[in-house]
Amino acid sequence: MIVQTFTVGPFQENTYLLIDDDSHHAVLIDPGDDGNRLLLAVEQASANLDAIWLTHAHVDHVGGIAAIKRVADVPVYLHPLDRPLYDNAKRHGEVFGLRVEAPPPPEKLLADGDTLRVGSLSFAVMHTPGHAPGHVVIHGHGIAFAGDCLFSGSIGRTDLPLSDGAELARSLERICALPIETIVYAGHGPSTTIGDEIDNNPFLNGTVRISRR
Ligand SMILES: [Zn+2]
Ligand SMILES: [Zn+2]
Repeated sequence: MIVQTFTVGPFQENTYLLIDDDSHHAVLIDPGDDGNRLLLAVEQASANLDAIWLTHAHVDHVGGIAAIKRVADVPVYLHPLDRPLYDNAKRHGEVFGLRVEAPPPPEKLLADGDTLRVGSLSFAVMHTPGHAPGHVVIHGHGIAFAGDCLFSGSIGRTDLPLSDGAELARSLERICALPIETIVYAGHGPSTTIGDEIDNNPFLNGTVRISRR
């Protein structure tokens, strides 16, 4: 398994290219901008792109989809509760003075407990609302794509439209119940581990009840 990180766009969002190195099948997670650069990376890795998986549909996570879909006809996976954000991405970009191409409609709907496969690898979908209503964390093989729920030393914003702080706290409890050695690939900033965040993240102190294991 190979995970490549690409930090894209004005929000410095992390797009991840996940490759099954046995089969060379790959997925892009949260292609937030620079679709052409991401396609080039897929090509340079000699990978076959199977799909686009989205942790959530804020504009900084979906802005690269339209450019990718023009070249690669791969399905987009999204939790249905984030469809309003997804459909609003172009307007959301305009609020920030950005020109964002509206992404074409998602083909596949995610639900808590779903299994996602790429090559011989399989990952579990955990619905983690709070930062966004349809936010999911995708985890397996000792890693988790945490989107904007959990960052190194911080947590997702809940002052946005459709955000909910109490829901995020519940979601963080579930995320922090993953094995402590799990590598967390965050939507912004450096990667971390569940254990490091339980030990050091000031935002988890008090708001989240952690059972260490
Ligand atoms: Zn977000
Ligand atoms: Zn973000």
